[in-house]
Amino acid sequence: MNIARETIMQQPALPRRLLEFGTSELDVSDTRNDAEPYTDEYHELCRNFVRETVEVCGFYRERVRRAGISLEDLESAAGFEAIPPLSSGEVSALDDSVLLPDETRQHLKTGFFGLPEERKMWRKFTTSGSSGLKPKVSYYTKADWEVLVATGARFLASYVAPGTMTRVFNCFSGGHVGAKFQEDGISTYGCSVEGAHISRTTPAAVLEQLMRGGALELGGFDGLAIPPGLAKGSPGASKGTNLDSLLNLDADNFIGKNIRVIITSGSPRDAAGLNLKERVWEANELAGAPKTKFFEMYGFSESLPNAIDCEHNVGLHLGAGPTYTEVLDEKTGKHVRNGERGFVVITGIRSGSRFIRYAVGDEATYVTEPCPCGRTSPRLQNIQRVVELERLQQGCGGGV
Ligand SMILES: [Zn+2]
Repeated sequence: MNIARETIMQQPALPRRLLEFGTSELDVSDTRNDAEPYTDEYHELCRNFVRETVEVCGFYRERVRRAGISLEDLESAAGFEAIPPLSSGEVSALDDSVLLPDETRQHLKTGFFGLPEERKMWRKFTTSGSSGLKPKVSYYTKADWEVLVATGARFLASYVAPGTMTRVFNCFSGGHVGAKFQEDGISTYGCSVEGAHISRTTPAAVLEQLMRGGALELGGFDGLAIPPGLAKGSPGASKGTNLDSLLNLDADNFIGKNIRVIITSGSPRDAAGLNLKERVWEANELAGAPKTKFFEMYGFSESLPNAIDCEHNVGLHLGAGPTYTEVLDEKTGKHVRNGERGFVVITGIRSGSRFIRYAVGDEATYVTEPCPCGRTSPRLQNIQRVVELERLQQGCGGGV
């Protein structure tokens, strides 16, 4: 049947990438990972990763020894949950290479020349240090990066109907993890991506590139990957030109007319006072164009992607992949239940820098009720930066 064939052809062809530790594996390109809660197999993969890390990385060997946790303990959920979360301050105080496996630290000294390509060091990112702490460092091997990119592309395949956007303008600034992640992820999904040129340092110059680039003869850009902008008075560094600043300058209503999908990340899109969706939808109406669809991706240079919201915009769906996310009660350190608020704690499942139960410095409400979109994967709502460092240091039952 022609119709069936067309339907199949419209599905993005994603590269099959396996996340493998111990006897567990996860195909991160499989969109079923987005439809349901973390499976038992995924929890086990995470525990296998932790056990391997304790064996190969001196930092964690010492950390679990001090906590009185044995390798056998780590085979159970209870053992994993006994690992004290790492705080942002702790990570920030570490030298660049400390979270790498011991052998990888040796290669960092002498080079990765003799290693197969997938084990070579591929990306290194640092945070901006805008929280007042020393920038935090994350290394990714080539295999790590490929898993991460395939997961980002899978998120898009799950949530953004193919063909909704085809030519995407990437406004994340070059050195930031978001720029490379969005570029590689969106390309893998099936769009062409053009980055904001390094010489365009003002929102006006970036808007000009948006209006003139993207194969204008074929319709120009119809997608935007961009930081949302920061609500007045909120902490954090601007990660390049943002949507708020472009909307303020867009006198010709290019965005309302032409942009069908806007992907944001880096800070909360729906922060009070920004009203980004409302402003764009008003611009759509003025232009007689359909409503632009918004998707917010959640992730960090230390590990990404964690979650993305569906077009209902009622919380970000967690999806199994290289980032295993927990939401822990600030006082007890136990996982919160539906509707409760807690600290976001992540485990980055990869071969480069190891982040195990790392409290990233955000809090969120954890929602397990099925979403209007029909998916049953848990969602994070109302994600906010924890600005009081004392709360983070004393948080999660004193473990952080
Ligand atoms: Zn949903």
